[in-house]
Amino acid sequence: MKYPNAKKIDLERKTLLPGFIDPHSHFGMVSNTMGQVDLNPEPVGTVTDIEDILANLKAYKEANKIADGEWIFGWGYDDGELAEKRHPTKNDIDKVLPNNPVYLQHTSGHMGVANTLALEKMKVSADSKNPEGGNIVRFPNSKEPTGLVQETAMYPFVRHMLEELASKQAKFFDTTQQYYAANGITTAQDGMTDRNTIRFFQAQADAGKFYIDLISLAGYSELESNLKDSTLHFKTYKNGFKVQGTKIVADGSPQGKTAYFTKPYKSEVPGCTHDCRGLPSLTQDELNKLFVMAYDKDNQLFVHCNGDATVDMVLEAHRNACIQLNQPLDKDRRTIVIHAQFARQDQLLKFVQYNMEPSFFTNHAYFWGDVHVENLGKQRADFLSPMVSAERLGLKPTNHSDATVTPIDPIFTIWTAVNRVSRSGAIIGEKERAKPYLALKAITSNAAYEFFEENFKGTLVEGKLADFVILDKNPLKVKPMDIKNIQVLETIKEGKTVFKK
Ligand SMILES: [Zn+2]
Repeated sequence: MKYPNAKKIDLERKTLLPGFIDPHSHFGMVSNTMGQVDLNPEPVGTVTDIEDILANLKAYKEANKIADGEWIFGWGYDDGELAEKRHPTKNDIDKVLPNNPVYLQHTSGHMGVANTLALEKMKVSADSKNPEGGNIVRFPNSKEPTGLVQETAMYPFVRHMLEELASKQAKFFDTTQQYYAANGITTAQDGMTDRNTIRFFQAQADAGKFYIDLISLAGYSELESNLKDSTLHFKTYKNGFKVQGTKIVADGSPQGKTAYFTKPYKSEVPGCTHDCRGLPSLTQDELNKLFVMAYDKDNQLFVHCNGDATVDMVLEAHRNACIQLNQPLDKDRRTIVIHAQFARQDQLLKFVQYNMEPSFFTNHAYFWGDVHVENLGKQRADFLSPMVSAERLGLKPTNHSDATVTPIDPIFTIWTAVNRVSRSGAIIGEKERAKPYLALKAITSNAAYEFFEENFKGTLVEGKLADFVILDKNPLKVKPMDIKNIQVLETIKEGKTVFKK
């Protein structure tokens, strides 16, 4: 017998698939949510209006006995899903928590709301100028901040929040890992990791704490120093953890109207009066420099961009770097365009020519499909995350949750890729509805390719790692709308069961 230690198992009509590979989420942020107030609307949470947010904040302070003066953080609120259809203001939050600095992260991850104490602590006032690439939103006809800070204006708040939450990282580490494993994921991702957190993850790995694999993408602000650091070995696993490449954030989010488009938004954009197309987070020049620096050292890039104008900037940065460094345009470097949500057909063709791959985000069709139709018009909304068109051109698209932006659940991601049904029941882009097989490839074989792991993960082939997920039903056989009810029964990493229902 070829494998004397092998055991034959009767699956009893259950379905065995390659373990799910997470093309893009934020392991660290998922872990952080475990120390924050949940302000999500259904189906993730229960918030329906601003009163609910205030009630949850108040209850959290009381239940956790948080003293006055200590920071309180919330996550997942979505103005588009609140009855009031607006962001809470500092005045709203002050009503229930006047004596604690409070910062609430918007579900997009691109903005948040602070109360009066938090604004004071971060030194944001009527006199503050908007930082480059960001916006401090003000009350009408006034310089007074409402509390809403967008893009680079939110960075000090997020930085402070991460510092406060870092002390709790070890406490929530295993719960987070178990959460990924329970979702059938055998390779997880942390979609933007600073050096301290890279050290933390590596220490956990070296102490034997990982039973699934974790891939980090290092932050672009540390690219130069990371490339000089001889202790950092990109693309190489050590005890279940590796830093694969570098994450660049090139624009904002379409639902937050901070994604950067070639054509204007069709609805009002806060803080903008003319030609409102959103904004890039980096200038073309800054982007060019990062690409040259990375390509010169064969560092894999993962670039967050949503709007088509940002995709144009990324394509230009790629072309420029190849010319500067005298490298072929189509070298196998697998630059990944993360989200690529509103990439146009001509840009997909450029991805083929430049040997880039898109990592799409079809969960948007459900969560914000209706909002995109309103803000961008039906034609642009229908072509969001065009899985079918991309595959037809020979690309290997992946599809992600961007958790905590949407729930990590890969089964739900398959469901949105296949059905593209919005919250209101509208179909967002009939022609881009993926076959279940493509939706599965996007979180298995194509995802393995995204990370140069196709030789040992992503398909059920002799010689690859025994990373499996067992489901109660077959996604290729059930009715498309029933896919979301499929249950993960067991997750197996390198032959060992790491989750069992
Ligand atoms: Zn992300």
